[in-house]
Amino acid sequence: MGRGVCRSIAWLALVAGLAGCSERADAPAPVDPPAPLQSAVLVLLDTVRADHCSAYGYARPTTPALERLARRGVLFENAISSAPWTLPAVASLLAGEGAPRALDGERGTLRRSLVEVLHRAGIATAAFTEGGFVSRDFLLDRGFDAWVEEEGHVRRTPPGATPQPPGSGSAARTFAHAARWLAQQGERRFFLLVHTYEPHTPYTDRRFAAELPVGRVGPSLRMGMVRDIQRGELRLEPEELRYVEALYDGDIRAADDELGRFLDALDAEGLSERTLVVVTSDHGEDLGDLDPQFTASHGHALKDPLVRVPLVVADPTDPRPGRRVAAQVRLVDVLPTIAARLGAPHALEIEGRDLGPLLRGEEVEPRIAFGGDTRLGPARQFVRTGAHKYIERSDGADAAAPEAPARELFDLATDPREQHDLAAEQPALADAFSRLLAERRGQGPQGPSTPPLETLPQPLQERLRALGYAD
Ligand SMILES: [Zn+2]
Repeated sequence: MGRGVCRSIAWLALVAGLAGCSERADAPAPVDPPAPLQSAVLVLLDTVRADHCSAYGYARPTTPALERLARRGVLFENAISSAPWTLPAVASLLAGEGAPRALDGERGTLRRSLVEVLHRAGIATAAFTEGGFVSRDFLLDRGFDAWVEEEGHVRRTPPGATPQPPGSGSAARTFAHAARWLAQQGERRFFLLVHTYEPHTPYTDRRFAAELPVGRVGPSLRMGMVRDIQRGELRLEPEELRYVEALYDGDIRAADDELGRFLDALDAEGLSERTLVVVTSDHGEDLGDLDPQFTASHGHALKDPLVRVPLVVADPTDPRPGRRVAAQVRLVDVLPTIAARLGAPHALEIEGRDLGPLLRGEEVEPRIAFGGDTRLGPARQFVRTGAHKYIERSDGADAAAPEAPARELFDLATDPREQHDLAAEQPALADAFSRLLAERRGQGPQGPSTPPLETLPQPLQERLRALGYAD
């Protein structure tokens, strides 16, 4: 962290209740980290908001498998992604730093990955993903010995064939393939990434929606309807929004069911005792509660429904499993944690830091979350502490798009839904956050982190269109 950033954090500490850059005097003395684990699994459930997981207190039983895993590990209540859509979020996850540094802005490709560190340490690395933006076309396969791109629920229909109902069962196949790979590893050390779009649109699982009025939505929420909503041609009624929300919850549960089966397979193979298991998501979803025009979409805003994601880390050697950590952590911390726990150190200058001290119950300095990379609407960036979220236009405040304010400041303790903008009331605090963003911008590359979609290979364009991206 640069000296300027540290100074700004020290100033923020005074007004925003943050500890400074130095170690807290009352932090418990660090204990020796445990011996390295043999292997690790990282499960990425695409498009899951933390506040729609029953593991996070949501009323519907959307994530019983995640709850079981949390009882064996640590649940992070405030895990923050660095971007509200897939490519920059997954790139920053793999690189351990924000998308402008992680991705080559010209080509939208991953510059480097912590998976390369694991690979160099002699660990077998494999990924089972459902493609789209989680694709080797963006060099996200860096460092992976095996990278299998399932077609997921965006499989192409051969000419003349009846289109399959999308969204159903993609997780079942992807997890099954990943479990088959696991069963072949024997005593080898491995790092396995499993990614599914199951909770992403289209929403198809009706288990929580069966009793609800369908309205104009129909049995599933199709991509055509999502596009109609985005174009302003359709505005859902409150009852229809509740139905859409129930479908989304059903898709989360469908993914969680497969996660549960996969974790059972890990147990059955005798791997749970020596494998770190991490489950998270890349970003959340707008269910019409932020902006009705982006119902069932993401990429357009930086409020918590889009960037606060589930994160559970289960370490089989944890002497006190079942804890919940309220301190803010970031998705960029996940791969540094896995690398550290597998005993694969690196000397990369990255933003992400090992969560090991928090996993061992040692309190450490606060982790400030930075992010941005909005895909729709004016370009914006955010900085989030445990106490505040600050969002700023990064395209020049007087730009033509009127739909986003130049800057916004929210007190997360009193206003967790981020509805009362305090930027005008607390300009000094907003200025401090703005300086923090500016200093950080000065430390790294700028600019767009993805190429224009029309420059991508044609098959990839088709798959992205099926996910609702390419228009
Ligand atoms: Zn995603």
